[in-house]
Amino acid sequence: MGALTYQSLDDAIDHFLQTMKSGFPCVKLTRTDGEATRRYKVEPPFQSLREFKPLDAGELQIQYKNVANMTQTENQQWIKTWVFRMALTIAHELTHFFTGYKTGDARPITPPNVSVPGWEGGEAGRAWEVATFGGIVEFWSDGNDLNQPGEPIIFADLGRDTEGRPVSARYVEAFAGGSKSRERETGKESPRAPLL
Ligand SMILES: [Zn+2]
Repeated sequence: MGALTYQSLDDAIDHFLQTMKSGFPCVKLTRTDGEATRRYKVEPPFQSLREFKPLDAGELQIQYKNVANMTQTENQQWIKTWVFRMALTIAHELTHFFTGYKTGDARPITPPNVSVPGWEGGEAGRAWEVATFGGIVEFWSDGNDLNQPGEPIIFADLGRDTEGRPVSARYVEAFAGGSKSRERETGKESPRAPLL
């Protein structure tokens, strides 16, 4: 691994995001496990942060079924929730690209201290969710209609007995509408985690 330097973490995040915007990695819709994943190239893609090229950093793979279901629903509330869910999915994966950006490693492993309670080892995406939303967001659906995105439920950690709280529909609506509000209101009920 080459010597990688940056002025500050803020500078690194800013440069990473600007660079990702200027040339996003290849996106593939696949039958991946879960919501999405990355596939990295074998060789280290770059030797310094300033050489980082998103197209060489790997590809973003998204669960094609979710995209198909999202585009087929005509329920306006569901569409908003799908936008919220997809944004979380992609932002989660971007944190893993950011790990590669910072380490210069072609197959970056998240440092173990970048994680959340209840998860073994590092998990940058989950850590980002806790930092951004105050918890881990899961989507629960009754499975009756594949086009439904599920109800977003937020959990403080990944413990099996941790109770979740529904994310406020108002927040999801504002988020899907592009609001920059930092409001993180959640509902008052506390259903038990359906599965984790
Ligand atoms: Zn992850």
